[in-house]
Amino acid sequence: MQLKNCTECGRVFVHPSREICPACYEAEEQDFQKVKEFLRDKAHSSVDDVSDKTGVAKKRVIKFVRQGRLTAEGLDIELFLSCEGCGEPISEGRYCKECRDKLVKGLTEEMTKTTREEPQPKKEDITGKMHLQHRRR
Ligand SMILES: [Zn+2]
Ligand SMILES: [Zn+2]
Repeated sequence: MQLKNCTECGRVFVHPSREICPACYEAEEQDFQKVKEFLRDKAHSSVDDVSDKTGVAKKRVIKFVRQGRLTAEGLDIELFLSCEGCGEPISEGRYCKECRDKLVKGLTEEMTKTTREEPQPKKEDITGKMHLQHRRR
């Protein structure tokens, strides 16, 4: 078993997959329940609202959203993340649509440059959803 440092409190703990110690995990679960309950009553709140009303740290609320846990619960939340490429507000992931397109286009160009005779795009591209070169001519 490998010892890890909790990303929340820094304590050393042992767990195969978690990044946080049992105590922090417990606390995070409780926060998650709070956020969940709050959004049940007040669907479509902003992260600021949720953090304000539940007392759960904004950072943690954003973490839940990023993990997709709230949407998996069918809950709606307005999240103002910013794109890592241009800083535009986005609702999910790390990049806005434009930057994702740019990234994908960049990759496509890179691929056509280097592998001209092999036009088959790789399936596992960065977005996991985009279909590269899917257009028929
Ligand atoms: Zn911890
Ligand atoms: Zn962007």
